Amino acid sequence: MEISFNKIKQSPIVINYSKDGVKITGTIERINRDCVKLNSNFESSVNVICNRCAKEYKIDANYPFELILSDGGYNGKDEIDVVEFFDGKIDFDYLAQSEIASIQEDYNFCSECENTDELFEAEF
Ligand SMILES: [Zn+2]
Repeated sequence: MEISFNKIKQSPIVINYSKDGVKITGTIERINRDCVKLNSNFESSVNVICNRCAKEYKIDANYPFELILSDGGYNGKDEIDVVEFFDGKIDFDYLAQSEIASIQEDYNFCSECENTDELFEAEF
Protein backbone atom coordinates (compact mmCIF):
# COMPACT_ATOMS: atom_id res chain seq x y z
CA MET A 1 0.00 0.00 0.00
CA GLU A 2 1.27 3.44 -0.93
CA ILE A 3 -0.07 6.90 -0.16
CA SER A 4 1.15 10.06 -1.86
CA PHE A 5 2.32 12.77 0.48
CA ASN A 6 0.34 15.38 -1.43
CA LYS A 7 -2.92 13.57 -0.63
CA ILE A 8 -2.44 14.15 3.07
CA LYS A 9 -3.95 17.49 4.03
CA GLN A 10 -4.72 18.99 7.43
CA SER A 11 -7.39 16.50 8.42
CA PRO A 12 -6.15 13.05 9.44
CA ILE A 13 -6.49 10.12 7.04
CA VAL A 14 -7.50 6.73 8.42
CA ILE A 15 -4.91 4.00 7.87
CA ASN A 16 -6.01 0.41 7.75
CA TYR A 17 -3.07 -1.63 6.49
CA SER A 18 -3.24 -5.39 6.64
CA LYS A 19 -0.85 -7.59 4.70
CA ASP A 20 1.19 -10.74 5.32
CA GLY A 21 0.04 -10.90 8.93
CA VAL A 22 0.95 -7.30 9.71
CA LYS A 23 -1.69 -4.78 10.76
CA ILE A 24 -1.04 -1.07 10.96
CA THR A 25 -4.15 0.81 12.01
CA GLY A 26 -4.52 4.45 12.95
CA THR A 27 -4.33 7.84 11.33
CA ILE A 28 -1.86 9.91 9.42
CA GLU A 29 -1.84 13.70 9.53
CA ARG A 30 0.21 16.56 8.18
CA ILE A 31 2.42 18.37 10.66
CA ASN A 32 4.25 20.70 8.28
CA ARG A 33 5.08 21.22 4.62
CA ASP A 34 7.40 18.22 4.37
CA CYS A 35 6.33 15.90 7.16
CA VAL A 36 3.35 13.87 8.20
CA LYS A 37 2.86 11.94 11.42
CA LEU A 38 1.69 8.36 11.65
CA ASN A 39 -0.27 7.69 14.84
CA SER A 40 -0.99 4.00 14.73
CA ASN A 41 -0.83 0.59 16.28
CA PHE A 42 1.44 -2.16 14.97
CA GLU A 43 0.27 -5.73 15.27
CA SER A 44 1.96 -8.86 14.02
CA SER A 45 3.16 -12.28 15.01
CA VAL A 46 6.88 -12.27 14.26
CA ASN A 47 9.22 -15.25 13.93
CA VAL A 48 12.42 -14.58 15.84
CA ILE A 49 15.49 -16.57 16.85
CA CYS A 50 16.41 -16.85 20.51
CA ASN A 51 19.77 -15.17 21.10
CA ARG A 52 20.79 -17.80 23.61
CA CYS A 53 19.58 -21.20 22.40
CA ALA A 54 18.92 -20.33 18.73
CA LYS A 55 15.40 -21.75 18.91
CA GLU A 56 12.88 -20.16 16.60
CA TYR A 57 9.74 -18.85 18.27
CA LYS A 58 7.04 -16.26 17.78
CA ILE A 59 6.59 -12.86 19.36
CA ASP A 60 3.11 -11.37 19.39
CA ALA A 61 3.86 -7.73 18.74
CA ASN A 62 1.11 -5.26 19.50
CA TYR A 63 2.14 -1.74 20.42
CA PRO A 64 1.79 1.93 19.48
CA PHE A 65 3.57 2.70 16.24
CA GLU A 66 4.31 6.40 15.89
CA LEU A 67 6.59 7.80 13.25
CA ILE A 68 7.33 11.01 11.46
CA LEU A 69 7.37 10.41 7.72
CA SER A 70 9.37 12.89 5.72
CA ASP A 71 8.81 13.77 2.08
CA GLY A 72 12.49 13.93 1.13
CA GLY A 73 15.44 14.47 3.46
CA TYR A 74 14.64 15.34 7.06
CA ASN A 75 16.53 18.14 8.78
CA GLY A 76 14.65 18.68 12.03
CA LYS A 77 15.16 17.06 15.38
CA ASP A 78 12.44 15.02 16.98
CA GLU A 79 12.08 12.63 19.84
CA ILE A 80 10.41 9.98 17.77
CA ASP A 81 11.65 7.98 14.81
CA VAL A 82 11.73 9.55 11.38
CA VAL A 83 11.51 7.67 8.10
CA GLU A 84 12.41 9.46 4.88
CA PHE A 85 10.84 8.75 1.51
CA PHE A 86 12.33 10.12 -1.67
CA ASP A 87 9.67 9.40 -4.29
CA GLY A 88 6.78 11.39 -2.86
CA LYS A 89 4.97 8.33 -1.57
CA ILE A 90 4.68 6.54 1.74
CA ASP A 91 5.32 2.83 1.26
CA PHE A 92 3.55 0.85 3.98
CA ASP A 93 5.08 -2.44 2.87
CA TYR A 94 8.47 -0.92 3.57
CA LEU A 95 7.35 0.39 6.99
CA ALA A 96 5.94 -3.03 7.92
CA GLN A 97 9.04 -4.91 6.76
CA SER A 98 11.50 -2.60 8.48
CA GLU A 99 9.55 -2.81 11.74
CA ILE A 100 9.62 -6.61 11.56
CA ALA A 101 13.35 -6.51 10.82
CA SER A 102 13.95 -4.31 13.85
CA ILE A 103 12.05 -6.80 16.06
CA GLN A 104 14.13 -9.66 14.66
CA GLU A 105 17.41 -7.76 15.13
CA ASP A 106 16.58 -7.03 18.75
CA TYR A 107 17.95 -9.20 21.57
CA ASN A 108 15.28 -11.88 21.82
CA PHE A 109 15.14 -14.62 24.41
CA CYS A 110 12.61 -17.43 24.32
CA SER A 111 10.46 -18.11 27.39
CA GLU A 112 12.81 -20.85 28.61
CA CYS A 113 15.92 -18.72 28.35
CA GLU A 114 14.19 -15.70 29.83
CA ASN A 115 13.67 -17.62 33.07
CA THR A 116 17.19 -18.91 33.52
CA ASP A 117 19.98 -17.37 35.60
CA GLU A 118 22.44 -18.08 32.85
CA LEU A 119 20.91 -15.31 30.81
CA PHE A 120 23.38 -12.69 32.00
CA GLU A 121 26.39 -14.90 31.44
CA ALA A 122 25.23 -15.41 27.88
CA GLU A 123 24.93 -11.69 27.35
CA PHE A 124 28.44 -10.71 28.40
ZN1 LIG B 1 16.15 -19.79 24.14
